Amino acid sequence: MSTDVRDRNGSAWLIPNDGTRTNHRLRRDMRRFDDTDEIDLVIVGCGAGGSVLLQRLARAGWRVAALDAGPFWDPDTDWFSDEAASHHLYWTEPRVITGTDPVPLGSNNSGRGVGGSMVHYAGYTPRFHPSDFATFSQDGVGADWPLSYGDLRPYYTAIEEELPVAGEHWPWGDPHGYPHRPHPVGGNGEVFLRGARKLGITAKVGPVAIPNGRFGNRPHCIYRGFCLQGCKVNAKASPLISHIPDALAHGGEVRADAMVTRVAVDERTGRATGVHYVRGGRERFQRARMVAVAGYSIETPRLLLNSSSSRFPDGLCNDFDQVGRYLMVQGAPQTAGRFDDEVRMYKAPPPEVSSEHFYETDRAQPYRRGFSIQNVSPLPITWAEHVAAQGHWGRALRDYMTDYVHWCCLGALCEFLPQAGNRITLDEETDRHGLPVARFSYSQCDNDTQLLHAAQRVMEDILHAAGADEVITIQRFAHLVGGARMAADERHGVVDGTCRSFAVPNLYITDGSVLPTQGSANPALTIMAVAARAAGLLQAGARGGPS
Ligand SMILES: Cc1cc2nc3c(=O)[nH]c(=O)nc-3n(C[C@H](O)[C@H](O)[C@H](O)COP(=O)(O)OP(=O)(O)OC[C@H]3O[C@@H](n4cnc5c(N)ncnc54)[C@H](O)[C@@H]3O)c2cc1C
Ligand code: SF4
Repeated sequence: MSTDVRDRNGSAWLIPNDGTRTNHRLRRDMRRFDDTDEIDLVIVGCGAGGSVLLQRLARAGWRVAALDAGPFWDPDTDWFSDEAASHHLYWTEPRVITGTDPVPLGSNNSGRGVGGSMVHYAGYTPRFHPSDFATFSQDGVGADWPLSYGDLRPYYTAIEEELPVAGEHWPWGDPHGYPHRPHPVGGNGEVFLRGARKLGITAKVGPVAIPNGRFGNRPHCIYRGFCLQGCKVNAKASPLISHIPDALAHGGEVRADAMVTRVAVDERTGRATGVHYVRGGRERFQRARMVAVAGYSIETPRLLLNSSSSRFPDGLCNDFDQVGRYLMVQGAPQTAGRFDDEVRMYKAPPPEVSSEHFYETDRAQPYRRGFSIQNVSPLPITWAEHVAAQGHWGRALRDYMTDYVHWCCLGALCEFLPQAGNRITLDEETDRHGLPVARFSYSQCDNDTQLLHAAQRVMEDILHAAGADEVITIQRFAHLVGGARMAADERHGVVDGTCRSFAVPNLYITDGSVLPTQGSANPALTIMAVAARAAGLLQAGARGGPS
């Protein structure tokens, strides 16, 4: 592997250097395959997992196209540094939620369009810990992965260079450094560092996928806090700018506004033959020698279940009733504290400082696994939701809103455990294409609830130690993963450790669906690393052409 990131991924140098943010020539001259071409690989979804796969295999000379249901964003014209004007970034097609603890879906879960959910993700990019890959062996909960941390380590390093990631030396998990030095912190980060220091809790600056300085033609962050609205500056990494330009330059195709409705399988051979999709109101079919699904933890299982046939009457790859199961979400309470001095939490990227002090199982506690704590910086609309959730309305809500500049906010990510009953099935309701929508059932177990309480206590302690005179907490969820997990065999999962499905030899899944556990780290970096590894293995296995 080349040590110069530009030799491996030239995306940052393919973005214009003239004040605009999109290389229109690259998009206009992009290679376009015909539906009747039998291409080497068609990828469903152009987000964290799909884009990395596309870029790697385009570079390897594969004839590869990625279809995405959403638009091919142009940051100049499509994105706004305005909280209210950013809702079009989210996947807001209908989904049904149920269970004892139903998870609200919408703005905080998944995106739609080229770049996927990372277009509006916050930008934290921590690695998983080695223990995350063997929670069942080590702690008796969760599941063991069919691969180890060591298998992913080189891909973590490669993706951290390509995004690139900025942060302090990381002392937790497998201790490691980052390619860019940490950013200066704003008021929110200072409060977190001050409170943590007083309590003897280690907290560090980073890791964020925002270069500290220029990177290629990408400009420096301007610290105005709109990361969750799609960074119009092009400072925050998402695949739209970190992997797609290089994929196009190497002959990959991105086909936007193309909703895949079904994966086709030859009943005789049992092999995938391509995908049915709708584009411009027309039903079409892209032939391919291999198919990879990377549509996010809800849409990937939904697509498999919607692709039933006489060979797979209960859904594609669902012979052992594994599709849609073990879907996970992190408990993500946010605790805000008020300070007499102004904090102005919006004047910095929302991702600043984090702590993995409580990440691992503490045998002295009644629960297993742990949580991380990070700065979050809700903008005014989200802040109003935070305050209204406490029951404040009318005059009281107004008072809290005018006091906004005095508040600091921390968020926890609690490692909720994978459970077979937390799953996607198909609902009777259909979408505008006539396809059954996903029904997502979610219930917490005792361990999950205990983690939530513990994380809230620690966040309140940190804010009080920093000098807060009032603290308020809102309960939320974040980061769905799982639903088509990898496992050692087909009775326990949908794909093997290379992301190849057990049931269909030329069908791969390369998104967050394949994660068997989630740690208390944000998942995007791990999803990209898993996809990069799958791409590397595909290339190596192909030896002169995909099979
Ligand atoms: C508000 C928010 C903040 C977040 N913050 C962080 C963070 O700080 N750090 C972090 O690591 N993670 C964060 N995440 C999560 C992270 O963005 C996701 O975990 C990650 O992007 C998931 O990758 P994926 O490849 O599974 O799916 P995605 O990146 O969501 O990509 C899936 C793509 O598939 C497309 N698609 C779906 N179905 C179809 C279909 N049938 N046909 C065609 N296309 C289809 C979608 O349009 C989408 O573009 C955040 C997410 C949100 C919503
Ligand atoms: S704070 Fe920096 S990374 Fe975030 S949106 Fe603004 S310029 Fe982009």
